[in-house]
Order: sequence, then structure tokens, then C-alpha cells
Amino acid sequence: MPELRPNCELCDKDLPPNALDARICSYECTFCAACVEHHLQNVCPNCGGGFEARPVRPARSWRETTGLAVDPPGTRRRHTPYSVAEIAECGPDRGDPSARTLTRAGSILGRRGESEERWPARR
Ligand SMILES: [Zn+2]
Ligand SMILES: [Zn+2]
Repeated sequence: MPELRPNCELCDKDLPPNALDARICSYECTFCAACVEHHLQNVCPNCGGGFEARPVRPARSWRETTGLAVDPPGTRRRHTPYSVAEIAECGPDRGDPSARTLTRAGSILGRRGESEERWPARR
């Protein structure tokens, strides 16, 4: 079950379970829609993957085993180690996430010797 993380990793905006502007990557890195669009160009700075809208988890328990009362949201606020400036310096290939995943996964994940391909550069 995805962890509902409480904030945007970049601007620290609160993203409660009913937020419609929460975006997550496949590792559940969580950012707000504005940061994904304006700063990240739909590329997760932590893992290089794309983003999708995070589904709302209803407050009401529609079934006995579902809902926020049964599965509360996460409370640990996380912050990406990359600054806006570092993210802005990163490579230009931030287009189609499926193409990026298929053709650039090895480089994005940090294979040595391809520093110009890594996104973003490690500190
Ligand atoms: Zn944000
Ligand atoms: Zn990620």
C-alpha cells in the first residue's frame, strides 16, 4: 500500500490524503503538482522516474479494512537532497518518461562514467 507522505519534498507544501495536487513516482517520492511542472519537468530528482497523480484515500471507511482511520497517512516529512538550482542544472532530456525509463534507466540510476547522462548529478 502506498505511503501517503505528508509534504512536497521540494517546497514543503502540506499534501494531506485528500490533496488533489499530490504527485508520486514509483518509489512514492512525493511532490506537489506545481513543483513537478515548474521545477522537475515530470522527472523525479531522486530516482529519475516519472510522476502520476496520487489517488485520494477517503477519510470515511467504505469497507471495514479501508480508510484513514484504519490506514492513517505517514507523518515523516521528507526533503529531496537536491536544491532547485541543482535540479535546474540537470540535463535537457526530461521528456517522455517511458522512453527515459527504457533507454536511460542505467544511466539515470547512476552508472559510473556517464556523468553527463546522470540526472541529476550526485553531490
Ligand atoms: Zn512543491
Ligand atoms: Zn522518485
